[in-house]
Amino acid sequence: MDNKLRFGPAGMPLALKGKRLAEGVMYTSEIGLSAFEVEFVRGVRIRKDDAIEAGKIAKEKDIILSCHGPYFINCCSPEKEKQATSKRNLLEALRAADLLGAKIVVFHPGFYQGQSPEIARDNAFKLLSDVIETMKKEKINAVLGCETTGKPSQYGGLDENLEMCKNFPKHIKPVIDFGHISSRENGKIKTIKDYEEIFKKIKDILGKEALEGLHCHFSEQEFTEKGEKRHVPLGTNNHPPFKLLAELIKKNHYHFTIICESPFLEEDALKMLNIVKEI
Ligand SMILES: [Zn+2]
Repeated sequence: MDNKLRFGPAGMPLALKGKRLAEGVMYTSEIGLSAFEVEFVRGVRIRKDDAIEAGKIAKEKDIILSCHGPYFINCCSPEKEKQATSKRNLLEALRAADLLGAKIVVFHPGFYQGQSPEIARDNAFKLLSDVIETMKKEKINAVLGCETTGKPSQYGGLDENLEMCKNFPKHIKPVIDFGHISSRENGKIKTIKDYEEIFKKIKDILGKEALEGLHCHFSEQEFTEKGEKRHVPLGTNNHPPFKLLAELIKKNHYHFTIICESPFLEEDALKMLNIVKEI
């Protein structure tokens, strides 16, 4: 169990673009951050020695690593081929996470594609059961993290994700993207109470341990009736309001890991850290 509030960039810090992963992890520590999400969003590509080197630096510098699986994973798909690709990519991301010593592989559950939420769920549960069987066989240490999605066309509302975690308690943990939760429902998060409801729901369904070390994504977002439109720099539109989340985190001594997905990765992660410190 991790007893620290952590902030970090979603991928290579902008200042280190093109450098080796280990250098990115080192830089993250040097500027005062303590988390780093390795992005496999366009495919799981990493050399074994690069992963091991980055993992070693992360351990030395107390940086918590996580991974983000490919965007094209769709666990809800009824198509056999898509299912096979999704399984293979989840497992590749998990194996890479183990090489890195990363705790969690974040993934977007999938798309409804005209199916009912129940059918989409049944497809996803079946696929994830298969993935978990292999995780057990291969003794994989990393867990899967189902991320709350930003569009109503995507499977992965908070309730759906918590149901998924409850069904696979050892292998799937919730990943809370506050911007997504809000964008998915027309700018739902406006007050501190809106944040409190999210944490209450997690606690009620998964128990209060689920809040310890909770993995989160944060960025301000623009949205339309179709949900998330794009991620914008902190301080652009205050949607959702970071300061209110920071107040709640401080008040409840939450030890979350918060990955910054704004276009100004490490810069805005530091801004968030400072907002919490100043409260
Ligand atoms: Zn994501």
